[in-house]
Amino acid sequence: MAQRIDVLSIFPEYMDPFRHALLGKAIEQGILSVGVHDLRQWATDKHKSVDDSPYGGGPGMVMKPEIWGAALDDVAARTGPAAAADLESAQPHLNRPRHDELQGVERHRYPSAPADERPLLIVPSPAGVPFKQADAQRWSNEPHLVFACGRYEGIDQRVIEDARRTYRVEEVSVGDYVLIGGEVATLVIAEAVVRLIPGVLGNRQSHEDDSFSDGLLEGPCYTKPRVWRDLEVPEVLLSGNHELVARWRREASLRRTLQRRPELLEQAGLSQQDREYLTTLEQS
Ligand code: SAM
Repeated sequence: MAQRIDVLSIFPEYMDPFRHALLGKAIEQGILSVGVHDLRQWATDKHKSVDDSPYGGGPGMVMKPEIWGAALDDVAARTGPAAAADLESAQPHLNRPRHDELQGVERHRYPSAPADERPLLIVPSPAGVPFKQADAQRWSNEPHLVFACGRYEGIDQRVIEDARRTYRVEEVSVGDYVLIGGEVATLVIAEAVVRLIPGVLGNRQSHEDDSFSDGLLEGPCYTKPRVWRDLEVPEVLLSGNHELVARWRREASLRRTLQRRPELLEQAGLSQQDREYLTTLEQS
């Protein structure tokens, strides 16, 4: 059965990227089904308002709990407006050759969390815990992810507390900055998760070698031509010696991580050879 994503937002049009490229193809292949729901469908007043002034005063508005509560109940049960048709892929992708297809590549799943029938509710928030590649790996196994896109000052906190009866809940941040709404954060998280679902990328190594998968940043990559504007591709990459290429890539990855994200090195699984290389870098 397809893995499912539901998104609740007052700007459902923001979710159009789900219909394109690899996400659209995953929908077309039946790997993924996506429901996008306009939160205002659950608003009950004639202006379809979803926000109100904050208790305690202050600027901005807060999203109302009654509307979110009803919407989340319906999405979990696929009832009411949440039973509407799923998103369709924007265009046929299946007959197009893909760049990363490899014959006979084994489909790979990341280890899953202990079984819990409740869907996983993801609430993007700058005050959430940082979203990491390890979260994307775990969530790529979830049968049902639901995203609650906040706007204004955010969603009344009681919605998140109440939702724990029906959902497992994660409040996550996509970075130390403040966006206008949760839609772009949802797309970021969903794209990071969906590309790890088996069958979405043709070649599983496409993501196993990526930055963060082994705790390090990936090094630079090159393609043809060999010389471009007087800039040459590193000679070793043309050598055909797989062992030398692998060591060069590892060292480039260690060097880049040391320069840009040294804190990652503390958690990465490093060999004795890696440590010796880092020591030479630190001494140079
Ligand atoms: N008052 C909130 C605060 O300071 O923590 C900021 C609210 S923000 C203007 C509105 C919405 O944008 C949030 O409810 C959340 O859905 C989304 N958002 C903004 N920045 C985000 C981030 N860094 N990560 C995830 N979601 C974010």
